[in-house]
Formats: sequence, structure tokens, C-alpha cells
Amino acid sequence: MNDILPASVPRTEKLPDSARWQWFEAAVRKVLARYGYQYILTPIVEPTALFVRGLGEVTDIVEKEMYSFTDSMNGDKLTLRPEGTAGIVRAMIEHNALYNGPLRLWTLGPMFRHERPQKGRYRQFHQLDVEALGFAGPDVDAEMILVARSLWRELGLIEGQHVRLELNSLGQPEERRQHREALIRHFEQHASQLDEDAQRRLHSNPLRILDSKNPAMQTLIEAAPRLFDFLGAESLAHFDAVKSTLDAAGLEYRVNPRLVRGMDYYNLTVFEWVTDQLGSQGTVCGGGRYDGLISQLGGKPAPAVGFGLGIERLLLLAQDLNLPMPGTAPDVYAIVPPGTPLAPVMTTLEALRARGLRVVQHAGGVDGPGSMKSQFKKADASGAAWALVFGEEELAAGEVTLKALREGMQGGGAGAQSRQALAQAAHWAALLESQA
Ligand code: ATP
Ligand code: MG
Repeated sequence: MNDILPASVPRTEKLPDSARWQWFEAAVRKVLARYGYQYILTPIVEPTALFVRGLGEVTDIVEKEMYSFTDSMNGDKLTLRPEGTAGIVRAMIEHNALYNGPLRLWTLGPMFRHERPQKGRYRQFHQLDVEALGFAGPDVDAEMILVARSLWRELGLIEGQHVRLELNSLGQPEERRQHREALIRHFEQHASQLDEDAQRRLHSNPLRILDSKNPAMQTLIEAAPRLFDFLGAESLAHFDAVKSTLDAAGLEYRVNPRLVRGMDYYNLTVFEWVTDQLGSQGTVCGGGRYDGLISQLGGKPAPAVGFGLGIERLLLLAQDLNLPMPGTAPDVYAIVPPGTPLAPVMTTLEALRARGLRVVQHAGGVDGPGSMKSQFKKADASGAAWALVFGEEELAAGEVTLKALREGMQGGGAGAQSRQALAQAAHWAALLESQA
């Protein structure tokens, strides 16, 4: 579980700083608003039974990754949410929210899974969750994928290069049942080659064997019957419609018949956005359709589709690629020489802030503000473009000194940068003048 720190705090772990997080969250808000998705917040703690029923008893998450505990007040069995969908569905059922028609929702927050920590895999991590509830058509499956693409574009990630899309269809429960029987037959015929995990899953959840990362199992998995070959006409038509919408949007993808997802609730379309740049933790975003989940959790049957995006992984990728983001440095750092009366300084700075400028005032310790030299050092370290020096004599004359702290702000030369610097200085002068 990590602290997410500002860039100015030295870190031992190579994790993105809090400015990266804000950059990401701003992009998310912008993109989801463009598609009409509404923000929702649900509790971080839910009844354990919600996840057992929702995700399936024989999934990695429910079997070994949940942080569960007993509420000492009343004995309730509770769990720190390992994913976001079950809680959102619970809330929608509880508030009868689909009564007035389908809903597009998103949320963002911490998730908890007790797994072995490594780069891109943590015990508290964060997800963006995007869900569309009550829509049956393949158009909304494609919309989900396009929402993610718009987010990549907003962030400066290039699809096909930095992230690429993998797509599959898991069909409907009856098709999966037939495939499951064929799978069990296949693996039973080669029972001696199954590892311990696979043997345990053979009769409970053989589909998950396909997701095994054990290299010794790969040949056997390659030869296994494909779910895709068991899909009926309707499932195929749904999948074709998703693909043709993506084709029309100019989005490239790879159909990966081996793509299965970690939760039992998926049907029809499943997809993952993957990257090759993060080692083995390559899935940045995964999702799909889960038409059975709402009724499985006690709601009136309604179709749904959604995805979860791992924010740490995405930000590691953004950091590795050094994707540009707007600076967070102050516009100005105010230098207050020892002995300067503070009231007029503060009034001036408040007025500048009210005009939208980022203004950091040098604040002293118990012994006063510190020497000019140490204040200028702090001003420089803050990354501010300008220093405002409030000398006592200047203040008395209703003046203040504006000093450029960065290259290219000095003026003098004829370049565009120095012209811009001069214009900025003139702007400042006018602002300050109006305060005098
Ligand atoms: P994986 O196969 O990597 O374990 P998953 O299938 O368990 O992923 P999902 O439950 O689909 O993951 O969650 C969606 C996304 O959340 C993942 O694609 C990944 O980016 C991110 N994610 C999942 N588990 C973790 C974790 N422990 N730490 C950081 N990010 C995670
Ligand atoms: Mg996992």
C-alpha cells in the first residue's frame, strides 16, 4: 500500500507523484463528461457475501485475495472492496436506480487485494471504473472501448503503439456450459500434465485454467477446445456488430480467443487494453459485458457492460513515456525581507490569487522569515517563474520588485520567449499598479 506523494518529497519507490494523479483525474473527468457518464461514489467496505456472490466462489479474488474481517460491533462479515462493479450494482439495486431507464456511471478510488506486491501490482491500488447499466446492444460495448481510446488520446498515449486492444467473446451461459464440458474432457485426458492449481480447478472452474501463467501448461492450453467454436448465431452477431463499430471508428484490435477475465460475471464481449512496456503487469484496462450480474445479485434482470482501469499501471506507463502534463509550479514566490510589515504584503498577494494566479508566500519560522539568500533559494526550488520582492522602502513607496527566476524570462533578447516575458512583466506591472 503506497503513499502518493508530491514531487518535492524524495521517494524510494519509483511511483508517479501526486501531480500525475491529478493530471489523470482531470483527463478522466473531461472525457467521461463528453460521453455523458455520471459520477458515483459507493462505500469501500461491503458485505463479504456481495463479492462471493458477484465475482464467483472459485475466482482468484474470492479464494485468496480479499481483505475480509468481522465487524466487532455486530459480527457482520465485511470485505474491503477488491473491485468496483459489485458495489455499483448493489447500489443500483438498492435504489431501484434503473427504474427510469439505463444509466452511464463512473467512479474512481482504492481497491484492495491481498496478492504478492511487485511493480504494477499492489495491495491497495486504484481503479477507474466505468459502467453502463441497462443497455443490451453491441453499440454500448463499442462505446466503452471508445471511451478508453478517448482517454488515451487525452493523455497523449498512442493506441497501437503504447496500448493496444485485445477482444474476445465469451458467449452466453449455455454456450459456456457446453464448452466447459469439452474443456473438462480435454484436461481429463491429460490429467498428468495439470499443475496443482489446474487440478483443483478442473471441475470447479476449468475456464480459469486457460488463464494460467505456468509455462509448463501452455502447450496443453493451446490445444484446448476454444469457447469461440461453441458460440451460436446470436452471440456471433453481437460480436460482429462490436467489431464493425470499432472498424468504422478506425480502431485496431486483435481478437484473442484465449482472453478470459478473472471474474465469473462476464458474458459476450470481453476486452483488455494491454501494453508491452510494463513487463508482466501488462494489462492496463479490462472489461466486458456482464448481463447476468444484476439479477444474480437480486435485482430485476438488466444487461450491463463496464471496465476497470488500473491507475497505478497507467501512471507508471505515463511516467516511463514521460508524457507531458501541465506544470504545477507557482506563478510567483513572494520574498519578504526581515522586518517587512506583513499586512500590505498579504493584501497584495490575496488580490493576485483572486485573479487566478498561483502565489506562494515565503513563510518564516519562529525566528522570522530568514535571510534574503535563503528565501531566494526557496523561491528557486519552488519552480516559480517570478519572485516578488517586498522591500520595506519599496512598500513605503507603493512599489514592489518583480524578478524573473527562469531562463527566457529576462527580456532583453529579441526571441519570442523574451517578448513573452516582457509582455508578462508588463501584465504584472499593471496588476500591481492596480493594487497600489
Ligand atoms: P491481473 O491479471 O493483472 O491480475 P486482473 O484481471 O486481476 O489483472 P481486473 O480485476 O480486471 O484485473 O482489474 C482491472 C485492472 O486493475 C487491471 O487491468 C489492472 O490494470 C488493475 N489491477 C488489478 N489488480 C491490481 C493490483 N493488485 N495492483 C495494481 N493494479 C491492479
Ligand atoms: Mg488479478
